[in-house]
Amino acid sequence: MIVFMGVAGAGKSVQGKMLAEHLGYTWISTGELLRAYADADKKEEMLKGKLLKDQELIELMQKAFRQEDGGYRCIIDGFPRTIPQADWLLDRHNSNSIRIDALVHIKASEEAVKSRLLARGRPDDNEEAINKRFQEYRVETLPILEEFKSSGVPIIEVDGNKDRDIVSKDIQAMVEEVLRDVHKS
Ligand code: AMP
Repeated sequence: MIVFMGVAGAGKSVQGKMLAEHLGYTWISTGELLRAYADADKKEEMLKGKLLKDQELIELMQKAFRQEDGGYRCIIDGFPRTIPQADWLLDRHNSNSIRIDALVHIKASEEAVKSRLLARGRPDDNEEAINKRFQEYRVETLPILEEFKSSGVPIIEVDGNKDRDIVSKDIQAMVEEVLRDVHKS
């Protein structure tokens, strides 16, 4: 599986879907699943830009992995987003019950993505919820990069401020290189 990470508006979902199509993988997005299936209380939290409880997300992923053959040929968008979620995923990776081939980190400045988000106009794309999501990202999500690094998962850093098609080509090239190495070893 390939995990995508990036602040709201960095292009995580667009790029994840493009890569999934290119590789013939399944794209799993926690945000999409939650928007479709979460109850009213959870949807309200989401509208405020708050992260939901780790245990709920872990159960959601357990179910998704079961349905998708362990997530072997999946792009994961939106998980993990906290240290406990990352630990859960990396424990499974370290015990070989799943395999994380790479983490793609799309880097983009908050100022640059803010205007993109306000133009997108999803119900949680208002100034307050956007700021909350940026804060959750800085405090809860960014620290997981270090955990991935120490587990030896290849980290692919891309500049998300560039044009969508250029970013996509960058990601494809780097992911293909990592996958070639995986299949060699
Ligand atoms: P996204 O579509 O990825 O921007 O996610 C939308 C919202 O879903 C987030 O702002 C959170 O409220 C919730 N969410 C998605 N993934 C997670 C996660 N891994 N942990 C906690 N909350 C999440």
